[in-house]
Amino acid sequence: NILVFGSINLDLVTRTHRLPKPGETLRGISFFTASGGKGANQAVAAAKLGMTTFMIGRVGGDSFGQELLESLQQSGVKCDRIFIDKNTASGIATIAVEDTGENTIVIVPGANDRINESDCDRLTDLLPDAAALLLQLEIPLSSVLAAAKKAQNAGIPVILDPAPARELPPELYSVIDIITPNETELSILTGIAVRDIETAREALTELQKRGVKTAIAKLGAKGVLCARGEEQFFVPAFEVEAVDTVAAGDAFNGALAVAIAQGLPLPESVRWGAAAGALTVTKPGAQSALPSRLTFEEFLRE
Ligand code: ADP
Repeated sequence: NILVFGSINLDLVTRTHRLPKPGETLRGISFFTASGGKGANQAVAAAKLGMTTFMIGRVGGDSFGQELLESLQQSGVKCDRIFIDKNTASGIATIAVEDTGENTIVIVPGANDRINESDCDRLTDLLPDAAALLLQLEIPLSSVLAAAKKAQNAGIPVILDPAPARELPPELYSVIDIITPNETELSILTGIAVRDIETAREALTELQKRGVKTAIAKLGAKGVLCARGEEQFFVPAFEVEAVDTVAAGDAFNGALAVAIAQGLPLPESVRWGAAAGALTVTKPGAQSALPSRLTFEEFLRE
């Protein structure tokens, strides 16, 4: 089993010809809602690849909460550990996208921000059968740390996606097995301006010094650089036509966890992550762009 402890959001997306100026009211072109949140995206990524996946987190007592639960269930994610926080609103992101592709985003964490150590307790009985715990940074850091410690004590590998980037408490590094920043996150975490493979190498070494066992830099269309112990290796990106890079990083983490759960060695697991990321950028949207097991296996065989 794979466990994901993290955020669940509803994206409220409007399309307009151009973004409104402050104080301006505009007529938009279209509106839709889509399930998101880095936690939920990673859970859907793993579930769509056929792995039993439990999401642990919170939604609000509003109708968005129900919509989010239903959509996660439809994607095959186990939702019985998601707490419905009756007195709070569900996490949302209001997103406006103009014709040029430029966007503005406001995120209101809502129920995600109320996740605390009591939510970690809902991990306890799942840990004996778990192959990995996936974490991100869209919930309070204290809860991320508590969940990581709990998994580490149970001997379960912890995979942290340090997104959105922020400085981490030093003790978090030592309870993480695998950290997976993209270029921006890697720069913010280490203070090293990551521009290329050489600077990425340096930054990964810095993360290892802080106590992380394996550090993986997601370098977009360039590929992936990994550092484990003394060893470093590069996995080139798959060549695809990118239409929308949303959720590529989440696809990577979900697939990485599935591969690890299946017992694949690290280089092959990273290749799975890169393949899932590549497939995801070929489609618009977040969860709807994540590949199914069938599509994924065909792509890997090609
Ligand atoms: P994030 O979405 O977290 O910013 P990346 O953009 O690095 O992370 O994407 C995650 C992974 O998805 C990359 O490391 C790469 O393997 C794959 N990927 C992303 N963009 C592309 C692309 N344009 N072509 C091929 N693979 C890609």
